[in-house]
Amino acid sequence: MHFVVCLKQVPDTSEVRIDPITNTLMREGVPSIINPYDAHALEEAMRLKEKVGGKVTIVSMGPPQAKEALKKAMSYGADRAILLSDRAFGGSDSLATAYILSSALKKIHETEPIDLVFAGKEAIDGDTAQTGPGIAQRLGFAQLTYVIKVKELTDKNVTVVRKTESGRQVVQAQLPALLTVEKELNDLRYATLPNMMKAAGYEPEMWNVKSLPFDLTQMGLKGSPTSVSRIFAPPGRDGGEIMDGTKDPTGTAASVVTKIFQQNILMVNPLAKGGNLQ
Ligand SMILES: Cc1cc2nc3c(=O)[nH]c(=O)nc-3n(C[C@H](O)[C@H](O)[C@H](O)COP(=O)(O)OP(=O)(O)OC[C@H]3O[C@@H](n4cnc5c(N)ncnc54)[C@H](O)[C@@H]3O)c2cc1C
Repeated sequence: MHFVVCLKQVPDTSEVRIDPITNTLMREGVPSIINPYDAHALEEAMRLKEKVGGKVTIVSMGPPQAKEALKKAMSYGADRAILLSDRAFGGSDSLATAYILSSALKKIHETEPIDLVFAGKEAIDGDTAQTGPGIAQRLGFAQLTYVIKVKELTDKNVTVVRKTESGRQVVQAQLPALLTVEKELNDLRYATLPNMMKAAGYEPEMWNVKSLPFDLTQMGLKGSPTSVSRIFAPPGRDGGEIMDGTKDPTGTAASVVTKIFQQNILMVNPLAKGGNLQ
């Protein structure tokens, strides 16, 4: 079986700061990591490959330094890595990104038919969760989103458990299909020494705008209908109010309850109808 993983290199958002003057992300000196959801997507592809046999191909779009993320992904045992990198791709929003990635997947599919595509639920820097579904739609593949378990994989179908707001859903789709995955899907492995050594000497394939017949009007800033008008950090929390209840616990509790209702945090006030707190 041929598994393809869409993997994005992202800034480690725990260390991203916003420039207070320009309101843009300060990326300088910020370490880059594999998007955490994509690491779980890769892990699942590896597990399935080990179970049913086949090949894992990783595809990423990004600047040349995204090669590092691909090399790291190879150290977990993937077989092939392709980086789509070109100035013409820069400025692409999620619609254009899905176009570029799906075009690459179509080309791969022509020579090595794809059975299952994996993407993360979302990227931790963009957070739109649009790219995976956008790729599936363009390829005409079934899309199964918010996957927390791959229950069964046959040569015709995949059955998964999806997380929904109200519970869990078991869904089956025909192959080829695309899954977007949650972190609960699996536990990540450590890279083995032989795979780390293999990955150290591996050079990902570099594809650019000339590698396939791209429609240039569907990429970059011009091919992107979304624009970011402002980025800002939400105001920090103030210190809150500390009420000392040691001297008069009942009176303090009553004050807390009154404040909760004054601020409409709760709608029914037990004190309003003569209730008491004892
Ligand atoms: C006007 C505009 C300009 C932008 N310019 C740039 C720019 O110049 N450079 C830039 O890096 N970003 C740019 N972005 C952000 C870029 O559009 C998004 O990062 C990208 O489209 C993916 O969307 P997302 O991060 O919300 O991913 P999501 O849709 O949340 O990601 C879901 C999954 O899709 C897959 N995926 C997403 N992106 C990639 C990728 N690049 N490669 C492989 N797999 C992927 C991963 O599996 C990921 O887990 C721009 C956005 C806008 C709106």
